[in-house]
Amino acid sequence: MSVESILRTKGTGVVTIRSDANLEEAAKMLADKKIGAVVVSEDGVAVSGIISERDIVQAIAADGHAALEQPVSSFMTADVITCERTDSVEAIMQTMTEGRFRHVPVVADGALLGIVSIGDVVKRRIEDAEAEAEHLRGFIAGG
Ligand code: AMP
Repeated sequence: MSVESILRTKGTGVVTIRSDANLEEAAKMLADKKIGAVVVSEDGVAVSGIISERDIVQAIAADGHAALEQPVSSFMTADVITCERTDSVEAIMQTMTEGRFRHVPVVADGALLGIVSIGDVVKRRIEDAEAEAEHLRGFIAGG
């Protein structure tokens, strides 16, 4: 199963924020959209970073509420690991486990296409396991 199958279900809309927005705006965006990370992009196309709830917690732990006025660029991860829609769900799971992050933007030719979260991956794996069990039940009953 590929990343494409996840995007087909959840859609390709991606929430982005500019790197000069401040941390308070990023926190409000995460809360409003009920998401755990937002892709940083100046034009909504090219990925320049990612900022997650973990980065915001660390910023506040280090600098207190003054951190909320600081730009996203000061706390985002600039070296973003991305994937392509043809990558397998298993490969993305491994990437997330090894990198210890829960979000992977999907890109094609340098353009942002979507984002896959650990929740999307787990949901897909459960659906696949259930479909396989159903198939085996049918096979046994038919035999
Ligand atoms: P998360 O688990 O997604 O909340 O992110 C944990 C940490 O990894 C934060 O510092 C994020 O900025 C960073 N991070 C999240 N996603 C990625 C990614 N795809 N590539 C690189 N770093 C990431």
